Amino acid sequence: MRRVVDPRRGIPSTDAVLRDLAVSPHVAEVGRDRAVPLVADAQRRARAGDLDPGAVVRTVAAQLAALDPGPGTRPVLNATGVVVHTNLGRAPLSEAARGALVDAAGYTDVELDLTTGARGRRGAGTLEALLAAVPEAQDALVVGNGAAALLLATTALAAGREVVVSRGEMIEIGDGFRLPDLVESGGARLREVGTTNRTHLRDYEQALDRTGADVGALLKVHPSNFRVEGFVSSVPVADLAGLADARQRPLVVDLGSGLLEPDVDLPEEPDARTTLRAGAGLVTASADKLLGGPQAGVVLGRADLVARLRRHPMARALRVDKLTLAALTATVRGRATTPVTLARRARDGQLRERADRLAAALRDHGITAEVVPHDGRVGGGGAPGIPLAGWAVAVPEPLAAPLRAGRPAVLPRVHDGACLLDPRCVPTEQDDVLVRAVVAAARAAQPGR
Ligand SMILES: *Cc1c(COP(=O)(O)O)cnc(C)c1O
Repeated sequence: MRRVVDPRRGIPSTDAVLRDLAVSPHVAEVGRDRAVPLVADAQRRARAGDLDPGAVVRTVAAQLAALDPGPGTRPVLNATGVVVHTNLGRAPLSEAARGALVDAAGYTDVELDLTTGARGRRGAGTLEALLAAVPEAQDALVVGNGAAALLLATTALAAGREVVVSRGEMIEIGDGFRLPDLVESGGARLREVGTTNRTHLRDYEQALDRTGADVGALLKVHPSNFRVEGFVSSVPVADLAGLADARQRPLVVDLGSGLLEPDVDLPEEPDARTTLRAGAGLVTASADKLLGGPQAGVVLGRADLVARLRRHPMARALRVDKLTLAALTATVRGRATTPVTLARRARDGQLRERADRLAAALRDHGITAEVVPHDGRVGGGGAPGIPLAGWAVAVPEPLAAPLRAGRPAVLPRVHDGACLLDPRCVPTEQDDVLVRAVVAAARAAQPGR
């Protein structure tokens, strides 16, 4: 493209810079409002003789490239109604957790006792918060994710030995990863007992009674992402714990979604407190599902078992950074009001009001919009099959693609030929942003308008 150049000074005009092929793609990404001041600044420096006029375009392009987040880091408005959306990074963090992340970004006392000046236990504040939330646990440990917690538990307790688990709990957790493969990758061997739909206490007993049985641990996995209905039975934690105690083997329970205490809205979802009270030696869970925190894996339970995990060499490879610890601490302390909890509990009436307002605003812009009943989901492999009653705004389906490509990106639910916008997981203060995004998407879908 030919540059329109100020003939006196050789400084390109604002329009010329913005339209330059080196600059314009970035402007599309970050928006004209953020680009114009950078151009003005470069022009000012060129006029003052601090910047070669020929370098204005290059300078602006480099600055814009640094602002442009690129794929994988773009904020998305989640209009799907799925609260813990795996493809959108699971749990959105609370304000408190975001603040803690920023505070922890510099030097922190992550491994220092400030009262004595001596080295402290890594993440002491996080462990304190977890143990205050789950008094049934004698100790706790935080690793990279739920899978890491399970891997460390079964490896530290049973590498080279057997882990006894029900066939009904041999689950795939997503993206092709299977828990049995995960456990065996650490060196433990799985001893499957029972059948897909029914497993009894005697199945576990027989596995322990076999001659030469070399069992390192009993494992119970909460099959969080599917439901088997009909002729099914599994062994309650308390019964399994009784057997584990009698045979002096640890019982590990993989809870999955990470409720620390019982939740009235999710009666079938196991929680750490109840499971430990029922006698489990260790529980493992994800921090970024129902707990609503950063990606992390939490291990809670008996002090002697947690100590074995902590001392295992693998623990060092699976540990989390200071940012995760800081965000997790804030999340655990404020777990009653995380965005995940609030979105899960959003009241039908409030969702209806917001959907009505959104639809009215869209119709004011000439966009076809209708409020329809819409069930949200917990998502993230938590509480499968439990609908969260609510409402969505249905707009024409061709808006879905430009919505996803917009800034901010909006992820709607496309269903039955409609593009559904569910306000449940959209922060209320962003409702105006959502309206503007839909208006922009409508323009993009119909450039003639
Ligand atoms: C989600 C889940 C895991 C894996 O946890 P990540 O945090 O995703 O690694 C393991 N077990 C169960 C039962 C789960 O639901």
